Amino acid sequence: MKITSVRATPVSDPIPEEQQHRTDLGTKIKSDSVIIQVETDEGLVGLGASLGSPHAVCAIVEYELAPALIGEDPIYSEFLYEKMYNGSRWKPSLERGFSQPREDRRGLTMEAIAGVDIAVWDVKSQAMGLPVYKVMGAVRDSVRGYASGGWAPGDEAEQEMAGYAAKGFTAVKMRVVGRDGFSIENTVRRVKAARRGIGPNVELMIDAHGSLDISTAIRLAKALEEYDIAWFEEPISPDNHSGLAEVRRATSIPIATGEREFTRFDFDDLFRYGGVDIAQPDVARAGGLTEIRRIAALASTRGIKLAPHAWGSGILFAASIHMAMAAPNCHILEVSQGYMPMMYDLYSEPYDIREGTVYAPQRPGLGFTLRDDVFDRFKYVPGPEYIF
Ligand SMILES: [Mg+2]
Repeated sequence: MKITSVRATPVSDPIPEEQQHRTDLGTKIKSDSVIIQVETDEGLVGLGASLGSPHAVCAIVEYELAPALIGEDPIYSEFLYEKMYNGSRWKPSLERGFSQPREDRRGLTMEAIAGVDIAVWDVKSQAMGLPVYKVMGAVRDSVRGYASGGWAPGDEAEQEMAGYAAKGFTAVKMRVVGRDGFSIENTVRRVKAARRGIGPNVELMIDAHGSLDISTAIRLAKALEEYDIAWFEEPISPDNHSGLAEVRRATSIPIATGEREFTRFDFDDLFRYGGVDIAQPDVARAGGLTEIRRIAALASTRGIKLAPHAWGSGILFAASIHMAMAAPNCHILEVSQGYMPMMYDLYSEPYDIREGTVYAPQRPGLGFTLRDDVFDRFKYVPGPEYIF
């Protein structure tokens, strides 16, 4: 089997005005993504996706990655990943047994590599007639999901979070910065309301999107300890690995981070500082299925659990489902809530999520087919995703 083409197509989903809301990230007016299709001479097409800046990712796929993949056998997925990651030095890298990466190996380039890698795994697993997670080495067929939302202001957090628990979720996550802005007092009020809504037996996580400084994060963590928080996600800037360790040492709440890290090398650095209990690699950013499973193994050596970040695209969610089924230390999977058609209306088939549990699709490959009108429904719209 040989790869005959690698295509990348930008897609968008404008958010209707009544669904737009303002957070610490700004007001989100649309979602962008790139759909990647790897085609073979056997007529199989693998799906991948990337969340990086659409036109830039498409150019990287077309000019940098596709030429390296065309004519190659997708069964050799580790080889193809190394070929993409090491660029022109892939040969000496494999002959000598260590990485000799291309200069532009982080950021958009890695987001493009990750998207192509997911498509390679999809097409390879289709060829084998098995779901991706069984090709990777299955460890389970279902995993506990957590409802990821929690933007409601003030006491309204009670109703929002109770709604997720009512759907059967035994774990829920809320944003530290709600639609009504941030103060420690307001976050305590919102967390208190959330705890009232979900009761004592549902796990509650909080996410600060890396928006606090060290001392504020520590003060907030201390104020929230009595509400039994399962993890505090990105309390401070993800760039500050030593600062994360400071926050972790100052509180009994476990620390989660990793959605903005690239490759196992960055996770190794992150882990060395001792600032993380739960690693959250994003399959579309950290390096696709090939690299995220290496990160999972690395995390397991330090007793760090895996909770993949899964946001923005159904293809990435599908890849994350398979990852969760194949990593022993993946104890939970993010299930996004709120307005997200590119996550929930992308495929002809629905996800199998019942009572807060995510079940693995049993069809070959990722197990999903794009809806027929996907490129019309999600026609690309130029311009920024957020406005301030
Ligand atoms: Mg997050």
